[in-house]
Amino acid sequence: MSTKVAVVTGSNKGIGLAIVRALCKQFDGDVYITARDVGRGEAAVKTLNSEGLKPKFHQLDINNLNSIKTAAAFFKGKYGGVDILINNAGTAFKASDPTPFGVQAEVILTTNFFGTRDMSTHFLPMIRAGGRVVNISSMLSVTGLKQCSPELQQRFRSEDITEDELVGLMRRFLDDAKKGEHKQHGWPDMAYSVSKIGVTVLSMIHARRLSKERPNDGILVNACCPGWVRTDLAAPGAPKSPDEGAITPVYLALLPPGAKEPQGKYLSDKEVQPW
Ligand code: NDP
Repeated sequence: MSTKVAVVTGSNKGIGLAIVRALCKQFDGDVYITARDVGRGEAAVKTLNSEGLKPKFHQLDINNLNSIKTAAAFFKGKYGGVDILINNAGTAFKASDPTPFGVQAEVILTTNFFGTRDMSTHFLPMIRAGGRVVNISSMLSVTGLKQCSPELQQRFRSEDITEDELVGLMRRFLDDAKKGEHKQHGWPDMAYSVSKIGVTVLSMIHARRLSKERPNDGILVNACCPGWVRTDLAAPGAPKSPDEGAITPVYLALLPPGAKEPQGKYLSDKEVQPW
């Protein structure tokens, strides 16, 4: 039987690194740290080596289509596909950052939504039967959803929203944000939340699509919040350690063979949450 493989984006530090640590201990297969910066990725491999773990490494910048395609070709060539994909790479600005809202929105959505979508476009077709895809969203996607206009909420909760429509909505938010008109057009005043609404809804769309197009393959796609975790992205006073933040993503990645659910859900603390 071919070797199984797990790929975690943005895993040179923070929650991604903790996810790789847990998978190295619990997953029967190769586990890849991926990072946009080779030096930071190789340093992370050494960190886990010093703990007696043996992750592998591949460069992967989710904002660079060539990097995504090169990595996808590598995994296809070496393993024939991917068994676990965890789209963890993400970014945010500190509340005190003076960068204008429209610029922040562009940077945040480029990575959190459009980068994650590009990863999915190139990796989902090669997720093997029984595969698991976990997209790291945030509780702020739920907060942001509640602050959207009723019309936007209806679309984000609908079962018939397509990926093209979602992409169009994310682009519309960016246009509105750059003009400073996002609030009057029914968007929350939080670009990070909007990017994670995109991640949650994208996960639901992909789960529906895979269930329809590959009904016998049993691939499960879900979004989750890791909790509020002490990383460079969040705050030193956050309640969870990175290893604790990895618990729900790893739970979803290791849902047992034959599991039918959760599918296309948003979870936190290993529980499906209302959307
Ligand atoms: P960190 O800042 O510690 O880690 C973010 C990781 O993403 C880093 O490895 C970073 O790489 C990587 N990254 C950023 N941009 C790219 C890119 N273009 N390509 C590849 N990798 C990239 O943050 P966290 O560990 O806290 O965040 C992990 C995920 O969890 C994110 O999606 C975040 O939104 C989410 N999250 C975090 C919460 C928290 O409380 N910490 C709460 C809810 C969600 P580099 O070192 O090169 O910058």
